[in-house]
Amino acid sequence: PNPDADLLLGPQRVLLVEDALINQTLVTILLTRMGYDISIANNGVEAVEAFSNGVFDLILMDIQMPVMSGVEATEVIRSLEQTGGKPRTPIIAVTANALKGDRERYMACGMDGYVSKPIAVESLRAEIKRVRRAIAAVKPPKNGARRRNSFCSAGASRPRSGCCQRISASAPITVPLSRSTCG
Ligand code: MN
Repeated sequence: PNPDADLLLGPQRVLLVEDALINQTLVTILLTRMGYDISIANNGVEAVEAFSNGVFDLILMDIQMPVMSGVEATEVIRSLEQTGGKPRTPIIAVTANALKGDRERYMACGMDGYVSKPIAVESLRAEIKRVRRAIAAVKPPKNGARRRNSFCSAGASRPRSGCCQRISASAPITVPLSRSTCG
């Protein structure tokens, strides 16, 4: 049996946002082996364009990029989702800045998960699963009613703590972070 079979029930179209060619190549290999279709954006601006023109089940977002950073691109994407009434696309941050508190910081900035570079296949697989389950747990009712606290967008005026706490239910985060922690 395919060990990734359960992953394929979840996201299949992945937008890989990454400015470094070597990382694009490596992560594309990992994700292709897991059975995903990959689209690549080279920076935050390309990520926003791709998001606007396509449908993705998952976004892997590098943080440090030229033109527009991963945090900025995530803020724009969350804002577009909100204004467009679109469902939340899971975004997993990818960064070499493996500092204490990074996960919490990125979650507060509208991301749903976090993996550090260099990406280990097992941690990527585990994080995709965790994020997919967390997103599924807050799916809106089928009747189309707009749910509250759907977005953790850093630009949103509504409080982010409720949404972010629910998203992170499997890895409790107790620190409510302020806007100033983004960026
Ligand atoms: Mn980068």
